[in-house]
Amino acid sequence: MCGIVGIIGSSNAAREAFLGLTTLQHRGQDAAGILSFDSGEASGAASSNDGFHRVKNLGLVDSVFNRENIAGLTGNIAVGHARYSTTGRGDLIEVQPFLLNYPFGIGMVHNGNIVNAASLASELRSKHRRHLLTHSDTEVVLNLLADGLSRCPANVPDTVLDFESLCQAVSEVFGRLNGSYSILTLIADQGLVAFRDPNGIRPLVWGSRKEGSGRAYMVASESAALSFLGYEDVRDLQPGELLYIDQKGCVHIRRLVTREHRPCMFEWVYFASPESVIDETPVYGARIGLGNHLATLVRSELAARGLEADIVVPVPDTARIAAIALSEELGVPYREVLIKNRYIKRTFILDSQEKRQTAVNLKLSPVRSEIAGKRVLLVDDSIVRGTTSRKLVELVRQAGASKVYFVSTCPPIQSPCFYGIDFPEKKELIAYERNSDEIQKELGADAVIFQSVEGLQKAISQAGKLKFSPCMACLTGDYPTDVSGFQQFADQRGVERQKKEKP
Ligand code: SF4
Repeated sequence: MCGIVGIIGSSNAAREAFLGLTTLQHRGQDAAGILSFDSGEASGAASSNDGFHRVKNLGLVDSVFNRENIAGLTGNIAVGHARYSTTGRGDLIEVQPFLLNYPFGIGMVHNGNIVNAASLASELRSKHRRHLLTHSDTEVVLNLLADGLSRCPANVPDTVLDFESLCQAVSEVFGRLNGSYSILTLIADQGLVAFRDPNGIRPLVWGSRKEGSGRAYMVASESAALSFLGYEDVRDLQPGELLYIDQKGCVHIRRLVTREHRPCMFEWVYFASPESVIDETPVYGARIGLGNHLATLVRSELAARGLEADIVVPVPDTARIAAIALSEELGVPYREVLIKNRYIKRTFILDSQEKRQTAVNLKLSPVRSEIAGKRVLLVDDSIVRGTTSRKLVELVRQAGASKVYFVSTCPPIQSPCFYGIDFPEKKELIAYERNSDEIQKELGADAVIFQSVEGLQKAISQAGKLKFSPCMACLTGDYPTDVSGFQQFADQRGVERQKKEKP
């Protein structure tokens, strides 16, 4: 999962891309980059600033950028990326935006995961004699798009990119890719291109704002970035839709492919910022719904087992909203008694087991005076590997809780995600081939209660206006695209890794 932004028509395009990335920092904390293009028009003549400018590095957005390097990103068009690594390596060369010099000069940022990237990459190498510089699926998409654009008859350097040719090239890309992708492309002297995969698995929203006598446009992963910068939402890009805003500010838009809309449920459960609205469905409202639906389950489960709770405690930050709703529905007091050290990276985003375990120890401190002797209903957004949850139960017990009931706002995650969330192997998932009692034992809790799949679906659909059936493949195994070959590969990889870990 990553955060992407694109701006065109603003005199502060790179600075706005930087601020936009800051609001999307929760989507990826490994690295960040911005690419701008300066056509030299501001100076009225060729200047030393003409051309592409790029700054990228490993680390958080505000550690990568400063006043000086942003000042060097001139031009009225820019794309930016906050990276969360799922494919490729963690090297600087893998950090986006990527850039290709032909045709036109194309920069690209991508949020999602291309399931068939490996086979497309080997085809690019063998049939097209491309030397790929990275292990990233984004470089594969960039090469495919460049190929398509270079084959369009009108598209030779120094000509204007016409929308029909662009539609043809992007349609070909749609035809080749399997997976999730929200993509922004900056084409030198032409404009900003945005497209979203045919199932709309990853979000992408666009908006505009008055800028002098014209308009500036922004496209981003989440509406929070648009509103922060004063852009009014126009709408979400539809699945399979292409948006092209040219240098003159003309907007061209067309839906190229129509398939079932299957946005990722995890955006509403965990990833997206609470103030964002994704596919006309507010994240905050969906999380309230998650708490409301959970209340029924929690009430009956506790009653069936003769248990009672004294306080509802959220695991900050993403579980807060659902926990408030749960506490209101149950009539059990809400207490924020796990205090977060805000300078520690989000646990789930960390990429190794060792790093994750250390982070759990460091990131939360319990308020012992409020926890001691209480029966605690601990609410978290999800249980993935169980590492964090086990530590949390331990932490609350050590603070003196007499009972710890663990509640997950997400149903059990039992299958890998092939679309960009980092839980790719079944064997790593605590809910894989374990029932609630076994999970309870693994976590050391006095009860474990999960959201139901129906409850999750209702919480999302009741919060919004659009009718769609979210991707819930990691809960149900029903993938929006054909992953049969890749499923086998992922399972095998998981088995091999386990063998290595337990000789
Ligand atoms: S498999 Fe799960 S995490 Fe991955 S896109 Fe689907 S719902 Fe989201």
